[in-house]
Amino acid sequence: MNTNGRPLGLLERLEKGPVICAEGYLFELERRGYLQAGAFVPEVVLEHPEEVAQLHREFVHAGSDVVEAFTYYAHREKLRLVGKEELLARINRQALALAKEVAGESGALFAGDICNTNVYEPGDISASREARTMIEEQVGWAVEAGVDFIIGETFSYAEEALIGLEVIKEAGLPAVITLAVHRDPETREGWSVAEACKRLEDAGADVVGLNCIRGPMTMMPLLKEIVCAVDVPVAALPVPYRTHEEEPSFQSLRDPHYDGYLPSGIPFPTALDPFYCNRYEISAFTREAWALGVSYFGLCCGAAPHHIRSMAEALGRMPPASRYSEDMSKHVFLGTDPTLRRQNIEYRSEL
Ligand SMILES: [Zn+2]
Repeated sequence: MNTNGRPLGLLERLEKGPVICAEGYLFELERRGYLQAGAFVPEVVLEHPEEVAQLHREFVHAGSDVVEAFTYYAHREKLRLVGKEELLARINRQALALAKEVAGESGALFAGDICNTNVYEPGDISASREARTMIEEQVGWAVEAGVDFIIGETFSYAEEALIGLEVIKEAGLPAVITLAVHRDPETREGWSVAEACKRLEDAGADVVGLNCIRGPMTMMPLLKEIVCAVDVPVAALPVPYRTHEEEPSFQSLRDPHYDGYLPSGIPFPTALDPFYCNRYEISAFTREAWALGVSYFGLCCGAAPHHIRSMAEALGRMPPASRYSEDMSKHVFLGTDPTLRRQNIEYRSEL
């Protein structure tokens, strides 16, 4: 609470310490069998709203400070692609209502969400206008729902991110803008991440940084550049996959242990399992990024609640899910409790 008795807003919370925002709803609901990989349209919001609310609750239970409305790709281009443009307003309003409900019951922040429109093209004025109109309608529904702030995410063109930012600022709300960086360590128009984030800061972004596409290892060097370039809080929301120097994005990962059938010919998006980061890698990433100066944390596609809990614990938190964090002392073979049976403890090396 602040001095007016109101819950703290995003910027007030960031002044006091780090903030966690769980993302990655598309991938997790796909794995759970409620969303189709490929088009990746969040129809689950209308078809199984209880599953979306449940995932919001699981992320808050695991330590997320923010409930991000699942309006990612709930935009006109995507709904047109699946022939359901008439659902646009309903899907946005419903996603916002679900997030608002869970934020209300948990005291978490309630965030709206916009993203890359897929229609933007550099130098094409009518494409820019179309992107802006798409963003304006989504921001309009978020404002109507009373969000605390709006996240603009996975923009690989910084110029498109600037359009999104402008629309959010016109609505008078705090804006978190995160860029998605593919193999080349720069935006698609060729700006360095430092330059892109500086321009976003200069245009009024309250938080700038990166989300999606890159795993912890290949996002970290770019975060260093951003932290040095801006004064506003920096956001880091990698995908929980073991990307590396030769394969820096999760679309570029190749699996040398599996040469069987893959629908897309590559592990992305449904065969990334062997590359999954364990929770301790996420914890290590969080500590390193926090030491670097990052203060807005989260994970994107692939994230599950146990990762978010690790992130929270790495920041010194004990979310409700920490009640069940690992304690091996009472394990039948690997434990240390003096009451455990010797015959099982001695069998340890045979496991
Ligand atoms: Zn993602």
